[in-house]
Amino acid sequence: MNHDVIVIGGGIVGLAAAYRLLETRPGLKLRLLEKEARLAVHQTGRNSGVLHSGLYYKPGSEKAKLSVGGLQQMIAFCREHGVAFEQCGKIVVATDESELPRLETLWERGNANGLAGLRKLNPQQIREIEPHANGLAAIHVPQEGIVDYPGVCDKLAELIRKNGGEITLNARVESMASEGSARIIETEAGTFRADFVVACGGLYSDRLVRASGQKPSAKIIPFRGEYFQIKKERQFLVRNLIYPVPDPKFPFLGVHFTRLIHGGIEAGPNAVLAFAREGYRWSDINPRDLADALGFSGLWKFLYRYPSLWSYEIFRSLSRAEFTRSLQKLVPDIRRDDLEKGGSAVRAQAMTADGNLIEDFHFEEAAGILHVVNAPSPAATASLAIGERIAKKVLTQLNSSGKQKP
Ligand SMILES: Cc1cc2nc3c(=O)[nH]c(=O)nc-3n(C[C@H](O)[C@H](O)[C@H](O)COP(=O)(O)OP(=O)(O)OC[C@H]3O[C@@H](n4cnc5c(N)ncnc54)[C@H](O)[C@@H]3O)c2cc1C
Repeated sequence: MNHDVIVIGGGIVGLAAAYRLLETRPGLKLRLLEKEARLAVHQTGRNSGVLHSGLYYKPGSEKAKLSVGGLQQMIAFCREHGVAFEQCGKIVVATDESELPRLETLWERGNANGLAGLRKLNPQQIREIEPHANGLAAIHVPQEGIVDYPGVCDKLAELIRKNGGEITLNARVESMASEGSARIIETEAGTFRADFVVACGGLYSDRLVRASGQKPSAKIIPFRGEYFQIKKERQFLVRNLIYPVPDPKFPFLGVHFTRLIHGGIEAGPNAVLAFAREGYRWSDINPRDLADALGFSGLWKFLYRYPSLWSYEIFRSLSRAEFTRSLQKLVPDIRRDDLEKGGSAVRAQAMTADGNLIEDFHFEEAAGILHVVNAPSPAATASLAIGERIAKKVLTQLNSSGKQKP
């Protein structure tokens, strides 16, 4: 079957790209291929459900550029289509003197990224916003909030179909051979031909680069994030979103408290190396994924460089008492017994051969194909802006090759 564009991956990035493509170019013959029986079951359906702003990201980075506009686009989309969201605001709290300079860096970054209404808080002002939080100083970020990302994905899928796109589930992409500038895509659900391919495979993004005949510039290393739920009778301890100052060595935000859009409070996620790319529990082991990770010199360099960091994450994953101690820095009244086991998600984190984690969003392009290689947090918030960027690039390439009329 012939297509103008095939999008691989039915997470929020693939869905947003397909949606923006059809919105910009009605009539485009587009199909989205997803290997699972349902959409958004991996990172997108398991994440924290937070609408991030541009507080953390280096000014000028892709994350800074796409998250600030992306947040606005996501809010507009939810408003227009009746998806649940709430801009409840967030506080980022320094609980130790050593974190104060890093809090200041966030303040500068947030302002440089154009965030309006940021406020510095003293301990008393912290307690006015979050009566049970403890801290020396904090930043209040009023535009952040919570959202129903699976609800966003359902709506995107509905609009893709309404605008003439097709979605094929149970269609794992196995290979992508070139035929001139077009691609022949072999999947479990049959063979498809496309003038252009957009690959948004999340935890498998590097393997899709390889499947399309290119050499991946980075390897996806899976970092599992585990959550606890706060018992109902203790949920009064947290009103909205309470975050620590992140460790700059790690592109993760540190365990925090999150109110969920459909009720409940979550604590987490931590960041432990997973033994499978879709390894949601310690017992999930995939020999191919494990061998792939252990055979990658970058991972060993990373482990060697940060021994205390990853060994502490393992310890905290196995010790609920230690997890509780981390949370108590932010909310001292939280007790071990307040925590009930919650869900988990695995981050698709790109790592280079020299052992560095790629912090920014990262895209790779070749003739007739665009790969979203690294789309970690806040890519859910930024998805519509990422989709818009992808749509522009794809349509420009199709126009210049004469395959589509501008
Ligand atoms: C613990 C955690 C918390 C997070 N919290 C937040 C947050 O609060 N806010 C925020 O903005 N971001 C958050 N993120 C990040 C966010 O969830 C991701 O950036 C985003 O979901 C990435 O979307 P995606 O579509 O790229 O990946 P995914 O959602 O993983 O989707 C990729 C899809 O591709 C499919 N696929 C893979 N290989 C193939 C193949 N060969 N053939 C066909 N299909 C294939 C997969 O099955 C999957 O459905 C969090 C992430 C994690 C892990």
